[in-house]
Amino acid sequence: MTEQFAGTAQQTTSAEWQERYAASLMNTFGPPQRVLVRGEGPYVWDVDGNRYLDLLGGIAVNVLGHAHPALVRAVTEQVSTLGHVSNFFTSFPQVELAERLLALLGGGERAEGKVFFTSSGTEANEAAFKATRRTGRTKVVVADGAFHGRTMGALALTAKAAYREPFEPLPGDVLRVAYGDVAALEAAVDDTVAAVLLEPIQGEAGVVVPPQGYLEAARRITSEHGALLWIDEVQTGMGRTGDWFAHSASGVTPDLVTVAKGLGGGVPIGACIGLGAAGELLQPGNHGTTFGGNPVATAAGLAVVDAIESEGLLQNARTVGDQLRADLAAHPLVAETTGRGLLVGIVLHQPVAPQVATAALDAGLVVNAATPERLRLAPPLVLTAEQASGAAKTLAMLLTEATA
Ligand code: PLP
Repeated sequence: MTEQFAGTAQQTTSAEWQERYAASLMNTFGPPQRVLVRGEGPYVWDVDGNRYLDLLGGIAVNVLGHAHPALVRAVTEQVSTLGHVSNFFTSFPQVELAERLLALLGGGERAEGKVFFTSSGTEANEAAFKATRRTGRTKVVVADGAFHGRTMGALALTAKAAYREPFEPLPGDVLRVAYGDVAALEAAVDDTVAAVLLEPIQGEAGVVVPPQGYLEAARRITSEHGALLWIDEVQTGMGRTGDWFAHSASGVTPDLVTVAKGLGGGVPIGACIGLGAAGELLQPGNHGTTFGGNPVATAAGLAVVDAIESEGLLQNARTVGDQLRADLAAHPLVAETTGRGLLVGIVLHQPVAPQVATAALDAGLVVNAATPERLRLAPPLVLTAEQASGAAKTLAMLLTEATA
């Protein structure tokens, strides 16, 4: 589908923008796949007028889709009223969002704890990492396959050697164990461990779900040794899995929870939440940020929470996610579908995920090849059953073509 855009910027071609991008932006991401100009609901449009169903949602960020009126209104009103204050001051949305997050973590009743706001997921993890150091212990146990961010602290906790090695030495005393393996955790955690850090579902690894009872075991083991249980919900939180937080289904109460991505629905914000005594680990002078807790970002967070509640998006994520998994599981190239809610992994029998993702883009679908064998979908939680069903049909066709 093509559309004409007004304005000089959009009259230039994709090739021109690609050239300007290559000339002026650091080459950290490789060439952009498309030059996007606008979005509405679950759709985005490129500079050439092509429309795409966004099944990746800015990598699990655009929970309300694009240009959601409530988010636009909240951000517009806040930036026109009070756009930024330093952390010498506070603002209503900052306090209100902290209270809402604690209430969501308490399952309706406010959990005892404290929030530190950041502007990204990696920074939320930096704050939590620093909090773990305030226990007087330094060792952090992390999982193979984990992704926690690219700043030096979060990078030290991330699994992929290719991401870490060019930047060593990184903060040390990090112990890696197999993900989902309770015995490995038992063996690794002793009274010298400050924290065990886990994703409830590994997103960047391609939507890898641990066995039933894993988080419960991690809670038991950490409690036995006086270590913190730190759950990274940066990708899985804020309704993505059909619960406010993916760990909620396990009934476990962690000590530290980090969130970002979906929290602002596209406005950069993250949070490190310390529950119980962990909320007191960071004290005056221990940490800081200029933008964390910014009124516009926190107003966006409140609008996201309100819309997820008022539009029944947790339920929608469950229903539409289950439907997508069921539709795609039927294809002979699909070994299994993984994940919960609208965090969907499609595990393929052959390493053709990158080729399928490229073909999908040409067919008007944004999907992600997390690994050669795994496609990942993290669409807006407003995705309808009808949109999902159309997308599943297109994807099935592309999977068939990939093996033809
Ligand atoms: N933690 C997890 C589980 C993530 O998936 C990500 C990003 O993909 C991060 C941390 C880092 O977040 P950000 O890219 O906002 O720094």
